[in-house]
Amino acid sequence: MDKTENKISKQVRDDKSGLMEKIVSLCKRRGFVFQGSEIYGGMQGFYDFGPLGVAMKKNLKDLWWNWMINDHEDIVGIDGAIITNPKVWEASGHIKSFVDPLSECKKCHHRFKADDLDGDKCPDCGGELTEPRTYNILVPTEIGVIEGEKVKAYLRGEACQTIYLDYQNVLDSSRLKIPFGIIQIGKAFRNEITPGNFLYRQREFEQWDLQWFCHPSEMQKWFDYWKAERMGWFKSYFRQPEKLGFYKHEKLAHYAKEAYDIQYDGKEIEGIHWRGDWDLSQHSKFSGKELTYTPEGAPKFTPNIVETSGGVDRMFLFLMVDAYDESDGTDGREKGEITLRLNPKIAPIKCAVFPLVKKDGVGDKAREVYKSIKSCLPSYYDESGSIGRRYRRQDEIGTPFCVTIDYQTLEDQTVTIRERDLMEQERIKISEISNYVFGKINS
Ligand code: ATP
Repeated sequence: MDKTENKISKQVRDDKSGLMEKIVSLCKRRGFVFQGSEIYGGMQGFYDFGPLGVAMKKNLKDLWWNWMINDHEDIVGIDGAIITNPKVWEASGHIKSFVDPLSECKKCHHRFKADDLDGDKCPDCGGELTEPRTYNILVPTEIGVIEGEKVKAYLRGEACQTIYLDYQNVLDSSRLKIPFGIIQIGKAFRNEITPGNFLYRQREFEQWDLQWFCHPSEMQKWFDYWKAERMGWFKSYFRQPEKLGFYKHEKLAHYAKEAYDIQYDGKEIEGIHWRGDWDLSQHSKFSGKELTYTPEGAPKFTPNIVETSGGVDRMFLFLMVDAYDESDGTDGREKGEITLRLNPKIAPIKCAVFPLVKKDGVGDKAREVYKSIKSCLPSYYDESGSIGRRYRRQDEIGTPFCVTIDYQTLEDQTVTIRERDLMEQERIKISEISNYVFGKINS
């Protein structure tokens, strides 16, 4: 097993309310997220997304991508390779500076990221800690099969580097003029010293990045613009937007001139970084290729960059935390019943279909309704157990609408539709279900 693992995971130490444990359990029970390679005892820092998780994560990524491209001008996307020429990481500064300080307890031998420690004693047993030593957290690999000819490479430690590598190709193949943006969603890999807190700190995770290329004289304007834009976007998807805030970095990464985090409940989801000309200048220096921009009738310059770099998995986790609601028994639900109050745009299933009974053609009618809406509306069919239990199963996974087919449906082609949060029921025509649901989702 990996020597950097702590026997008592940080997740459990930090989870005083027990909420994280409940979310981990819900995620496994309902197929959102599983421990990676669980049948082999797992591997710390690696997770798999199950059927509901992958649907929810796809919704999130689509929302982000479409918002970037459709709600803004001059933004295009790429999908770069995970493995690049190793020189990229020399140029980017990661081989020298992508390091984390690690301290070990002399008594229990648990290991900690020194930045996370409050005092000089072990948080697990109170023992004495060693002086921190730094470790590079890039994940190395080898390319090639013949000994002696193998090349050492790295899995990308941050997804954004491929955007700088493709800057000139994008510019040459499109009609973009500065300012413009390139976006990407992709995996990044880090040998984190203390993976933990479920999806919060993994060794393989997904990032969404915007790199906004602009004239140096306009950096402040665009930095402020993207800071506000990104906060507005996050606020529109969290149930408790008051838990979102900015954190200004005093200690800056090697490339940054100014940096803010967008946090949920004091924990980072996304970084907004003033990268300036660091990236293009470094890659120009190391590759020998000029990476500049020449406006019509004006001198050339190296574009400056505002970066917004967020964690898809962290947003997923914070949305689960934000949406998780356990009834106290005073809201029409039984005490302890769970409702995942996800924004309907993010919920993996939008509409569940239930027959009130299976007999007398009601079950057949329900299947027919399900089949008719499923091609345009992510839906789920459930005929087992009482209607109450079926509602609870859907509430627990955040399904915003449930449709019930009963005897009246056979007579007048109407169904009851129930909204997750209001728990109110309305009677509407079968032919109106999709429009009704989309109307509510987009309102
Ligand atoms: P941290 O300080 O938490 O280590 P960071 O500042 O190094 O994060 P960035 O390099 O700015 O993070 O990466 C951008 C985003 O990628 C972060 O805001 C976060 O959402 C996500 N991220 C970074 N490291 C991890 C990780 N180990 N697991 C999951 N998501 C991560």
